[in-house]
Amino acid sequence: MGQIRKNIETIKAKIKKISHRANLVVVSKYKSSEEILEACAAGQRAFGENRVQEAMEKWPSIKEKYPDIELHLIGALQTNKIKDALKVFDVIEVVDRKKLADKLKNEIDKSGKNPSLLIQVNTADEPQKAGISRSEAKPFIEYCQGIGLNIKGLMCIPPVEDKPEAYFKFLKDLADEYNLPIVSMGMSSDYEIALRNGATHVRVGTAIFGARS
Ligand SMILES: *Cc1c(COP(=O)(O)O)cnc(C)c1O
Repeated sequence: MGQIRKNIETIKAKIKKISHRANLVVVSKYKSSEEILEACAAGQRAFGENRVQEAMEKWPSIKEKYPDIELHLIGALQTNKIKDALKVFDVIEVVDRKKLADKLKNEIDKSGKNPSLLIQVNTADEPQKAGISRSEAKPFIEYCQGIGLNIKGLMCIPPVEDKPEAYFKFLKDLADEYNLPIVSMGMSSDYEIALRNGATHVRVGTAIFGARS
């Protein structure tokens, strides 16, 4: 059995132990189509990519082979890449500012697509990090809902140097307050903690594919 398949099975078993309904999103940024196809052959269907350009290069041919793939955009989205993003991504996890929300609404209406959208929250208000600030999060959720965006949940990347629990709890409570079903949080180093704090989706790369070069 290949190592990628083994890692996926190990992590799925760990996820199941903590939360029966949680989902694994396999993060495949910088990974080759061959490695991704091994994950697909192991039954994995939800994947995450950081960059629109890279996804446009790798995924159309993989999706032809596996039409039930669900591809998540988990890295920054520039407004000039929205059209391309809508062609290849099924879930956009990084809605974090009004200008992006407005343009997304516009392009979604034109394209006739209906991707699931998550709002990225900058749970520690880190200046270098994407995401809507904590204090702006509620008005921004309401703004997005008000213009008719299909907001399904929230996403965060807590600071690496802190314990993540408080940030995970903050995001889960916020999602509950707005009855949003998806809470995307937790990566290779902390997905078990995220699951214990209410994650519905964990995004795991390194623990499956090994270190990225
Ligand atoms: C790269 C990335 C991940 C996966 O990180 P690992 O530590 O490799 O599991 C998860 N979420 C986001 C937003 C990422 O950019």
